[in-house]
Amino acid sequence: MLHFDAVVADTHNDLLMAVAARPPKHWVQYFRDTWLPQLTEGGVNLQVLPVFIDDWYRPEGALRQTLRMIEAAHVIAAEVDEVRLCLNGDEISQALADGKIALVLAMESMPGLDASVELIPTLHRLGVRVASIAHWGRTPLADGSGEDATGSRLTAAGVESLEIMEDLGIVFDVSHLGASGVAHVLERARRPVMATHSSARALLDHHRNLTDDQLRGVAATGGVICVNFLPAFLTEHPRKVTVDNLVDHIAHIASVAGIEHVGLGPDFIREVLFDLTPPCCETNGTTGLDVDAVIPGLDGPRGLPLVTEALEKHGFSPDEIRLILGENVLRLFQAELGVRR
Ligand SMILES: [Zn+2]
Repeated sequence: MLHFDAVVADTHNDLLMAVAARPPKHWVQYFRDTWLPQLTEGGVNLQVLPVFIDDWYRPEGALRQTLRMIEAAHVIAAEVDEVRLCLNGDEISQALADGKIALVLAMESMPGLDASVELIPTLHRLGVRVASIAHWGRTPLADGSGEDATGSRLTAAGVESLEIMEDLGIVFDVSHLGASGVAHVLERARRPVMATHSSARALLDHHRNLTDDQLRGVAATGGVICVNFLPAFLTEHPRKVTVDNLVDHIAHIASVAGIEHVGLGPDFIREVLFDLTPPCCETNGTTGLDVDAVIPGLDGPRGLPLVTEALEKHGFSPDEIRLILGENVLRLFQAELGVRR
């Protein structure tokens, strides 16, 4: 089956949040019992693991939690035979050749650094290879898309963060960044930038989605836009969502940005949120999103073969489907990860 022959890359799964919420001696077993079977059954070959810290941590608390989540990823990679933490393209290629799931560490905003961008090289030494500089709200580096009314571009420290990342070979992630910030990054970027989990604004007008100009701008850098599966970003009627809504976003991004610039950033957050805050309400407190709505069959990595099936039904060719499922992300990572300027 095409899905299991193809390289499947998921550029956004917050599972480290749930891992790090447990006592360290349970990290490995929890990953092995809860996530590894899902990743395997879903055919995932490359998994980006973002470190996300809720806004209510102050910087020093966020820094400690950042380090705990990074440590958790390293411990899992050391103890679980089926996965391998990868720092560059060669390591990813080797992991895939050996039949391992390649893990790539990412930062989803960096509240633990506050404005201390001189610590980005420290994160790089710890294995971080993809990073964004804001979440929903304002950071010392930039405004997230929830602050779009400000019209703010990057701060001086934010500009510096982009330069430091480009020097080190950390891919800059524009998902969550405010609209003016995205424009600012696209003006300044000298290397490819990516959107790890963003859908198309032309199909649903939500500030977390990217406009056609932004999609073209990311593609022009050589980057990839990885589509977010959260129904609240796909359709006006999240409770009636189907996999076809997702395919519409993929097809739109492919037509606007090019088939070589689209990937998958599912953001399977429901299980993580339910795990962390039982019994969970229907909306995420930070974002106000309806997190109870899911694409039928796609509430976790296990459902990923359904995406391939839907892409086939839509009429994408097998080669195009391989690009979407993971080859585009793989190409970007092989060229960029850990490659210094
Ligand atoms: Zn996110």
